Amino acid sequence: MPGPERKTKWGNPPWKIDFCSKKISIPKEVDFAVVGGGFSGLSAAAWLRRFEPSKSVALFEANRVGAGSSGHTGGMTLAETAAGDIPGLGDVLAGLSEIVKELALDCDLSLPGAWELGREDGLPDSPIAWTDTGDLRAVKEVPGGTLDPGKMVSGLACCADASGAQIFENATVSNIEFQAPLRLNVNDNVILAHKVLLATNAMSLELSDLTKRAQPKFTLAVATEPLSEVQHGALGLGSGRPFYTIDFPYLWGRLLKNRGVIFGSGLVHLNDWHELADVDISAGQAAELLAQLEKRVRGLHPVLHSVKFTHRWGGPILIPEHWRPVFSLHPRSPHAVVLGGYSGHGVALSVYLGRWAAEVMLERRKPLG
Ligand SMILES: Cc1cc2nc3c(=O)[nH]c(=O)nc-3n(C[C@H](O)[C@H](O)[C@H](O)COP(=O)(O)OP(=O)(O)OC[C@H]3O[C@@H](n4cnc5c(N)ncnc54)[C@H](O)[C@@H]3O)c2cc1C
Repeated sequence: MPGPERKTKWGNPPWKIDFCSKKISIPKEVDFAVVGGGFSGLSAAAWLRRFEPSKSVALFEANRVGAGSSGHTGGMTLAETAAGDIPGLGDVLAGLSEIVKELALDCDLSLPGAWELGREDGLPDSPIAWTDTGDLRAVKEVPGGTLDPGKMVSGLACCADASGAQIFENATVSNIEFQAPLRLNVNDNVILAHKVLLATNAMSLELSDLTKRAQPKFTLAVATEPLSEVQHGALGLGSGRPFYTIDFPYLWGRLLKNRGVIFGSGLVHLNDWHELADVDISAGQAAELLAQLEKRVRGLHPVLHSVKFTHRWGGPILIPEHWRPVFSLHPRSPHAVVLGGYSGHGVALSVYLGRWAAEVMLERRKPLG
């Protein structure tokens, strides 16, 4: 069921999330509690019930599902992690494709590859020739592609809901007592949970014990009006491959189904994750970075000189030490798992590791560590 239109100071991405949780009362005790309704938490909730239909699962989301990074992302599906491959990680894109197939997720996943762009050593036949503090060219084709993040959030939420996981929106976990069973404070309720997954990403860093180990940031993107096939060809984007730079200043982007193009770049620095609530894309540093991004996009190629922008938005990311995602047991309890911190590289990884986290909660697997 579609919920009311989502409008925030973070702007509006070109994605639509068609999910609204049922009005049900919060249970007193559950086998598994998931905190956070982004890709990570929703994937874990969907898989927990699939693996163990007899166990109770409750997911608590402080806002609406997809209100964090997952509903504001760019939707580029990339292999590995922001820190490259990690021993034992496995094939993230193959895992994502398998999940999409097994859960029958209608999310427009397409994996034609992705372009790495650079200011040096461009491929002699680079289809991309842009001007951006030097000449930007494709330097390598890597595995990757795109999906529709709104459809992925909705699809995972519907799947979790249909399997019997209870999803509670506007349900903030304000505190956890790390005893057995764990005691969660949710709005005015106390819930006992035998296992907990903390999938709160850039927020609630006190709960996930990540205040000292990861930095929350806010990053920005814009979408253009639809362009013609000829314009896509001139830009070198005819193959439908998304792109990202391997040097600085950073730039990434992808095509949309309506033929618009998303471009993203820029980081708003925050002293504390609580400042995310005050970030407004129409004011301060976020507005300045968006204006710079639009100017930069218009300068990339003559096709973009007077392009109109239809969407402007931003969202949180969490950058952990050494860019390595966090997937481990909570230092205060072996019954709590922490998953998140993918930097700008979490679309495929969050869904993939969400399933793995469900297996960890069922004690069938160890976290990546
Ligand atoms: C603009 C932008 C572009 C991006 N582009 C890409 C890209 O193209 N490719 C890519 O791979 N990655 C990209 N990323 C990163 C990617 O989107 C994230 O890594 C991924 O969505 C993280 O998913 P998650 O479920 O871990 O976190 P989130 O989606 O942030 O979910 C965490 C959820 O927890 C909830 N929460 C927090 N605290 C509590 C609490 N106390 N109680 C209950 N709920 C709580 C939040 O409201 C939130 O909904 C981008 C991010 C942004 C912002």
